[in-house]
Amino acid sequence: MEAICPLDSEFSEKIDALLKPPSSHEVQASFRNFIPLGFFEYFDQLISTRQYRGLRIKQNGEFGKGVYADLEFREGELVCKDQMLVGAQHSSNKVDCLVCSYCFRFIGSIELQIGRKLYLQDLRFSARKCDTGTYSHTSNDCCPDDSSDEEGNSFMTDHDNSRGCSSSEPKDKISLPGEIVESLMKGDMVLPYSKQFYLPSAISCPGGCEEAHYCSNLCAESDWESFHSLLCVGEGSGSLCREALLKFIEHANETNDIFLLAAKVISFTILKYKKLKAAPLKVQERSSSLNGSEDTCFSMLLEAWKPISMGYKKRWWDCIALPDDVDCVDEASFRMQIRKLAFTSLQLLKEAIFNIECAPLFSLEIYGHIIGMFELNNLDLVVASPVEDYFLYIDDLQYLEKVEAEKITRPFLDALGDEYSDCCQGTAFFPLQSCMNHSCCPNAKAFKREEDRDGQATIIALRPISKGEEVTISYIDEELPFEERQALLADYGFRCKCSKCLEEEP
Ligand SMILES: [Zn+2]
Ligand SMILES: [Zn+2]
Ligand SMILES: [Zn+2]
Repeated sequence: MEAICPLDSEFSEKIDALLKPPSSHEVQASFRNFIPLGFFEYFDQLISTRQYRGLRIKQNGEFGKGVYADLEFREGELVCKDQMLVGAQHSSNKVDCLVCSYCFRFIGSIELQIGRKLYLQDLRFSARKCDTGTYSHTSNDCCPDDSSDEEGNSFMTDHDNSRGCSSSEPKDKISLPGEIVESLMKGDMVLPYSKQFYLPSAISCPGGCEEAHYCSNLCAESDWESFHSLLCVGEGSGSLCREALLKFIEHANETNDIFLLAAKVISFTILKYKKLKAAPLKVQERSSSLNGSEDTCFSMLLEAWKPISMGYKKRWWDCIALPDDVDCVDEASFRMQIRKLAFTSLQLLKEAIFNIECAPLFSLEIYGHIIGMFELNNLDLVVASPVEDYFLYIDDLQYLEKVEAEKITRPFLDALGDEYSDCCQGTAFFPLQSCMNHSCCPNAKAFKREEDRDGQATIIALRPISKGEEVTISYIDEELPFEERQALLADYGFRCKCSKCLEEEP
């Protein structure tokens, strides 16, 4: 049966307006009270407020838009740091790395990072090994990687249960006694040289949930104002129903954590809308808003939505690549299933954070486009691990110092196994990077330098870029043969005509 969202038909006109290409927003006669900025003005403003020096977004005949150099860049020079609009750590990665929920910097201490990871890995392993029923009410048994809705509470309470099971550790990892892991996690045990790898201490969520942690009060406040207040499962939550929110999160963790990102986008738009509405209007706006308050409200919703409208292209179920194990003849039913899954998730989210003035945001049409934006833009959020740096540093010490240090650090490294170097991983939407067009011989690339320790995207010039030249990056492995490249790029919806492709085209 097809999933039918009643909001799709009820708000079809407004949904069309929201999904219209941004440049045409300003000619919307019916929403004239509050004229949103046009597309290029939006980016000019973004570029100036964020101080991306030397860049411009310009019309590009073939692909619509592109990022152009307004200055010369030397080879290896930083072209820009692109602050994400919205991003999230993968649910499964939360076991491995404790990072700021807003800027994705590692937090706590080297000891906490190592101790927590060993502790949670042990918990996860025990949960898998002895499914005594303790875990059956959580998502742990089918998705042992994470339960971001549970982590905080189950963290301590399930602990004793898991200890009761006689479980052997996975091969090639040497387990450590629980007391040692705990003393590391609590900060009672200090590892040699760890002071040189200072991390900001973890600040708890102001709403009282155990899911979000921050590197600073500024990050905590910014996250609360922009995303988290509606999605917090703590006492101070601004959601309609915490139970419903927990169900939504559990469903996302069991199926696809891309829904958590979509929820952040919706929360972001609602909170921005509320802020615009609360802001004092200028006199002329106030007088016109008296006659057309519904139009004014919708214009504000359009304005709140604008940063997002720069990114979406297609509905999720239309653009998701067909998995290898799905036969072509089953394509239609596969896409139908994906649509249904999105609908289920949306209903759960609606119960948790629905806002009548922002109702069109809860239509399946909009939800599908938001998820599709992350599917297509496919931008990875990666932050290197200071734990990896720490062990490399120990390994690099002078012989005697190394021997001395390793007496303490070696058991931890052995217990972590190959995963000692796991970095923070997630998905994010970067407004500027997402405007950069692809080339198989790009002049720039996303590359994190030693000092880039948060979730921003860093774009570096691969060769000298002259003023006026388009800045391009590669969406794929550009070393692949011509046909393979074109096949991969077809998933992005275009055929590449860069100089390399024109040269190699048979
Ligand atoms: Zn932070
Ligand atoms: Zn919270
Ligand atoms: Zn190409």
